[in-house]
Amino acid sequence: MEKKRGEKLWIQTGMVWMGQKSEIEGVAKILSDFKCEHEQLSNTEIEKRYPSLKYGSEWAGLVDPMAGCLLADRWLAVYQDEFRKAGGTIHDETRVESFEDGETVTIRTRRGEFRAKKAIFALGTWINKLLPNLSVQSRNELVSVAYWRAKKPEDDHLTEPANYPILLANQDRIGWYSLPSVDYQGAVKFAYHEGEVYDVNKEVVDMDQKFIDATREHIRTHLPFLDAENGPWRVDRCKYAMSPDEHYVIDFLPGSRNIQVAGCMSGTGYKNGPSLGKALTQIALGQRPFADLSSFSLARFTPKSKM
Ligand SMILES: Cc1cc2nc3c(=O)[nH]c(=O)nc-3n(C[C@H](O)[C@H](O)[C@H](O)COP(=O)(O)OP(=O)(O)OC[C@H]3O[C@@H](n4cnc5c(N)ncnc54)[C@H](O)[C@@H]3O)c2cc1C
Repeated sequence: MEKKRGEKLWIQTGMVWMGQKSEIEGVAKILSDFKCEHEQLSNTEIEKRYPSLKYGSEWAGLVDPMAGCLLADRWLAVYQDEFRKAGGTIHDETRVESFEDGETVTIRTRRGEFRAKKAIFALGTWINKLLPNLSVQSRNELVSVAYWRAKKPEDDHLTEPANYPILLANQDRIGWYSLPSVDYQGAVKFAYHEGEVYDVNKEVVDMDQKFIDATREHIRTHLPFLDAENGPWRVDRCKYAMSPDEHYVIDFLPGSRNIQVAGCMSGTGYKNGPSLGKALTQIALGQRPFADLSSFSLARFTPKSKM
C-alpha cells in the first residue's frame, strides 16, 4: 500500500519482548516454526543494545526486527479512500437499529433501509447491543493508555522510533506494551494491557488508579530515563472487547448463511483488520478463506448439552 500510495504508513522499529525464560522460549519456538527472523537475548545483551532498558537477570529477552508501528490514522484514511475508489460507499453515523435475514439481508437504520446479499457485523464493544443473544458476551474494558516523557529534555531523542523499540513486558500475568513517540512528540506510550470492566450502556466516571500505579512502578524500575514520578504526561482511553478466552469471534450468525460476525478483537484487532477483512470477504463470496478461522468459532462458547 505504501508503494501504491507513495506515502509512509508504518515505521519499522523492531520489537523487544521481555518475560520469563519459559515464555520467551515459547515465543521463539512459534517464530521459528513460522520462519520469522528473531534473536533470543539475555537481559545484559538487551541492555547493551538498548541502553535505556534496565531489566534484571530474572528477565529474558527476544528481539523481532520486523516489528514496527502502523500509523493508524493514516491507514484508516487510506483504506477508506481505496475502498471508495473500488466503488464502495461509507455511511458514517448510521447506526443499524435492526436487521432481518432472508433471501437477502435487510438492514434498518434511521437513515433508511439497506438490502444486501451478505452482511458482516463488526461492532466492536457494541457487539451485544445489536446481537444480545450471541453465545458470547463481550467483556468490555476501558484501558488507560498512558504517555510518559523523558526526565531530562536532552533525553527526548531516546523516545523517538530510531532509538526506542516497541516493547512488550510480561511479569506475573501482568502485561505491558510500549511504543515510541509516534502519537505525541517526545512521549512514549507505556500502558497496562488490561483495564476497568465497564457497562457499554453507562458512562464510566471513576477509573481505578491501580493500572497507572503499576505502570509507574514498572517504569521507575526498568526505564529510569522516563519521568515516572511526574507522569503520566497524558492518558487516553481505549476500549477493549474481550471474549472469555480472549480470542477473536469470527463466524456466521447462528442459523444464517448470509450474516457473519467479527468481534472481541481484544485490543489487538487493528493490525489484523486487513487480513481478517480479506478472509471475511472471501467467505461472503462463497470462497475458501486464505486462512483457517475455525478456532474463532462461536460454537466454543455454546453450552454443551448435559444429556
Ligand atoms: C487507544 C487504542 C489503542 C489500540 N492499540 C492497538 C494496537 O496497538 N494494536 C492493535 O492491533 N489493536 C489496537 N487497538 C485495538 C483495535 O483498535 C481494535 O481491536 C479494533 O479497532 C477492533 O475492530 P472492530 O472492527 O472489531 O471494532 P471497532 O474498531 O470498535 O469498530 C466497530 C464499529 O462499529 C460501529 N458500530 C457499533 N454498533 C453499531 C451499529 N449498531 N450500527 C452501525 N455501526 C455500529 C462503531 O461505531 C465502530 O465504528 C487499540 C485500540 C485503542 C482504542
